[in-house]
Amino acid sequence: MIEDNYRHKGLRRKLVEELLEKGITDTRVIDAMNKVPRHAFLTSAFVELAYENKALPIGAEQTISAPYTVAFQSQLLDVEKGMKVLEIGTGSGYQTSVLCEMGAKVYSIERQKLLFDTSKKLLAEMGYKCHLAYGDGYKGIPVFAPYDRIIITCAIPVVPEELLMQMKPGGKLVMPFGEGDKQEMTLIQEDAEGNFQNTYFGEFSFVPMLEKRSNTKS
Ligand code: SAH
Repeated sequence: MIEDNYRHKGLRRKLVEELLEKGITDTRVIDAMNKVPRHAFLTSAFVELAYENKALPIGAEQTISAPYTVAFQSQLLDVEKGMKVLEIGTGSGYQTSVLCEMGAKVYSIERQKLLFDTSKKLLAEMGYKCHLAYGDGYKGIPVFAPYDRIIITCAIPVVPEELLMQMKPGGKLVMPFGEGDKQEMTLIQEDAEGNFQNTYFGEFSFVPMLEKRSNTKS
């Protein structure tokens, strides 16, 4: 059992207040983030920092995104209860659990075996019912397509055509777009004529999306 005591809850409330101050307005996101014990997704060395607005190491040279980034992406995603959401980059499983708390049916894919194994065990222990896949996120999870929403949680250098094909008409995809140190937070939406429109929401910094390789080391 994961301990979630008064101190954790207090720190979490302070964190969501900070998110509100920083301009997060979607109460669905705020409520979900107020519920999920972020400290459960970190190793003991980083637990003390769990409720600071920081990205932190989660092993396999990857990071859990900063809470503000998770809130910002979740808000742009505009998730309603019962929607099917595809997440690329399960990582620690934190974003996955926030989406579950928002009432989404979450399908998440991770390319690092270690992280896939760890988050699968943890999310099950925490009682989150989501579908986790081990594989290359560029391919999405076609067997469960189409999705109402798609969220990419690693820096992607190209427009993911295969993922857009797995999106429902009128769906939304949120991704940090670009290479290098900074990426542009991008929302892709399909308009009434079936054209995709991009809207940009400023710079963020993510770990890169791994290339299309089939080995487990990278
Ligand atoms: N949503 C995560 C963020 C983790 S960082 C969280 O809340 O913790 C981004 C993750 O994307 C890393 O775990 C990385 O291994 C994964 N990733 C990178 N390239 C990928 C790919 N091609 N397919 C699937 N996952 C990928």
